[in-house]
Amino acid sequence: MNLTHIEHIGIAVKSLEESIPFYEKVLGLKCYAIEEVKDQKVKTAFFKIGDTKLELLESTDPDGPIGRFIERKGQGLHHIAFAVRGIDSALEEAEQKGVQLIDKKPRKGAEGLDIAFLHPRSTFGVLTEFCEKK
Ligand code: ZN
Repeated sequence: MNLTHIEHIGIAVKSLEESIPFYEKVLGLKCYAIEEVKDQKVKTAFFKIGDTKLELLESTDPDGPIGRFIERKGQGLHHIAFAVRGIDSALEEAEQKGVQLIDKKPRKGAEGLDIAFLHPRSTFGVLTEFCEKK
């Protein structure tokens, strides 16, 4: 498969409003977009560092994936996302090599990217996302 760079790192937070000032006022980054992804029951805030983004994730529903994650593990690193060329074939290849997929087919994520997740059971505990800009 053809991974090109780390597209973003996902960080679960209880509150965007409370966490954004750390990234802006302490780290000096600029939040350039806030977007709700209804599908995943999250509100996301984006920051850019080079080719990589940070994606803060606030749950909009305690039963959503981020709500349940924070309940179990607390706030913190949630997933790593690799930019990939040819997401469909990357997923096929991963599955052929024995990786358990959460998404067999890509779906639409924030910023209109095609995204798909690999199960952390198959990736040594790191929820791993592939994404491709089409
Ligand atoms: Zn992501």
